Amino acid sequence: MRFKILSLFPEIVEGFFKSSIMAKAVDKGLIEYEILNIRDYAYDKHKKCDDYPFGGGAGMVLKAEPLAEALDSINAKNKTVVFPTPSGVKYTQKMAESLAKESEIVLICGRYEGIDQRIIDEYVDHEVSIGDYVISSGEISSLVVIDSIYRLCDGVITKESLQEESFQGKYLEYPHYTRPAEFRGLKVPDILMSGNHEAIEKWRNKKRYEKTLNNRPDLLED
Ligand code: SAM
Repeated sequence: MRFKILSLFPEIVEGFFKSSIMAKAVDKGLIEYEILNIRDYAYDKHKKCDDYPFGGGAGMVLKAEPLAEALDSINAKNKTVVFPTPSGVKYTQKMAESLAKESEIVLICGRYEGIDQRIIDEYVDHEVSIGDYVISSGEISSLVVIDSIYRLCDGVITKESLQEESFQGKYLEYPHYTRPAEFRGLKVPDILMSGNHEAIEKWRNKKRYEKTLNNRPDLLED
């Protein structure tokens, strides 16, 4: 899987690719990435990448020309382009699974009020929202999308780790415990130390159901 990320603040994105599981996946050649600094594609002498919105209103908008130049430089019209934005469709695990089947994904990191609509019209395949709230940096939402995808790619993490996760079926995940067996007077449920796999499975299914009912009853609606 190859990620190409267009950003005004590449240093935010860079750190993610150089840390933890992602760094290992890059080292192993399972994941490749390229970060394009949008400012490098601005051709006026001040390298201006934003401007006031037509029609008035607060804030600035990322200009079309530098974005288009950056996108053309990587032949983005022939690639899958994702633009995370609060006005996109709700991003889900199903979408992550579908995007993980691609060989290359281009992400545009928005800033300020967002990007010129003509870029969305001309280049973007998926406008996705990571939740019903507004953050200020498209780098963060693009990294959310990248993180949800790369961990599904072959060899990045074990297949067993991906099974029984939240959103695999309609239930959330069951609670986890690790050593010590007693922490500040709080004991791990006896069943988890019983060695009785059938009983453990039954307990986990019950907990899964309870958690989903409490935290996300909407998932059980159908
Ligand atoms: N004016 C925009 C609106 O009201 O929809 C919000 C722009 S936000 C301040 C700046 C950038 O952060 C967006 O262009 C997008 O890239 C990113 N962003 C903010 N909230 C997001 C969300 N819920 N999902 C995905 N991206 C988001």
